[in-house]
Amino acid sequence: MGKEFLSKNNIYFVERDINKDAAARMELQRRGISGVPTFLIGEDVVVGFDRAKLLQLIDHRLVRCEQCSQKMRVPVNKGKIKVKCPKCTHEFTVTT
Ligand SMILES: [Zn+2]
Repeated sequence: MGKEFLSKNNIYFVERDINKDAAARMELQRRGISGVPTFLIGEDVVVGFDRAKLLQLIDHRLVRCEQCSQKMRVPVNKGKIKVKCPKCTHEFTVTT
């Protein structure tokens, strides 16, 4: 189900089978995850097939605050947008 969804949305992915792939299994253990399927998107983890969450993560990218380096997620392909840092309230413009 997850695979079909990713393919349909033209999302590139790498599939790893934790029953055969010890490194993948350890990666999940390290993050304290026991459920499958698990989706890793950048530094974000979605446990279970959550369509809305996956799309939301994929349609966004990380930018860093110019002032305090706080990471935040901004939507992609929106042109120039104004963002406000949740940490230091610094406002700046990013091109997405
Ligand atoms: Zn900031």
